Amino acid sequence: MSAPANVIESLDRGIDAALEDLAALARIPSVSARGFDPAHVARSAQETAELLAKSGLERVEILTLPGAHPYAVGEWLHAGPDAPTVLVYAHHDVQPPGRESHWQSPPFEPTRRGDGRLYGRGVVDDKAGVLLHLAAQRAWLAAAGALPVNVKWIVEGEEETGSEHLAEFLRAHRTRLDCDVLVLSDTANLDTGIPSLTTSLRGIVQVDVTVRALDHPIHSGMWGGPVPDAATAMTSLLARLIDERGAIAVPGVYDDVPELSAEERAALAALPFDADTFRRDAGMSAGAAFIGESDRTVYERLWHRPSLALTALEGMPIATAA
Ligand SMILES: [Zn+2]
Repeated sequence: MSAPANVIESLDRGIDAALEDLAALARIPSVSARGFDPAHVARSAQETAELLAKSGLERVEILTLPGAHPYAVGEWLHAGPDAPTVLVYAHHDVQPPGRESHWQSPPFEPTRRGDGRLYGRGVVDDKAGVLLHLAAQRAWLAAAGALPVNVKWIVEGEEETGSEHLAEFLRAHRTRLDCDVLVLSDTANLDTGIPSLTTSLRGIVQVDVTVRALDHPIHSGMWGGPVPDAATAMTSLLARLIDERGAIAVPGVYDDVPELSAEERAALAALPFDADTFRRDAGMSAGAAFIGESDRTVYERLWHRPSLALTALEGMPIATAA
């Protein structure tokens, strides 16, 4: 289904107002991580709720759970009982800004730079996710007087800290949030000018592994040979996690991963891919090569296949080694 021309025109007319709302929301330093003032996250929930209400949603509320940052919810259910109900998910919290000296413009003062983009912490992730869908909703309501589907909204405040209470929240409000389709707004476009629909997402499993071989440090010259050291054992274990083809060698890891259909494969192949741009965007060093299953395309490895990353490695510090 494509939107009627008057809705698209209405969207164009509303874009500046939506950008202003986005900037106002992004001015709130709603960092959900521990050690940051939770009052800012409460304020961004409030501001989000006001935006939902201002965009035609009804039953807009801030809902809370003990120990959780607040959720903003709302709904518009006048498309009729035969129309599907879409639940839009977004989050209003952000990551810490890091060192301010590394920012070219202040993290919480959204600034439009020479390339036409708005820069600020949380502008993309995920406050644009809120405003993008609200802008579409406003355009439909203004031009057509109604939405083509029933819509419910949930905007959480702790995605960046692992959505610790989300399952509990969904269970607590099961009926209220009941829907036919979930639209996750926390996704990306492939590139400027290429609007994209994300149709698959990967979950995450994090494992901490500790290897211990000795109960106290010993001299390698005196004991080396028969006596193991933890770092060698650990690196040998890690090296065996990936096979020669680049596949993950953990038994069972691919068991529930569906193979792409011919249509999905064709759709991926039709997307533009430039290896140099991809390498630059990822920050890959000149000598670094792509890894993963070499018989599958980069996009398939990136979006449809499990990946394995070693995110931290600790051993004995060089200064105290012998
Ligand atoms: Zn996000």
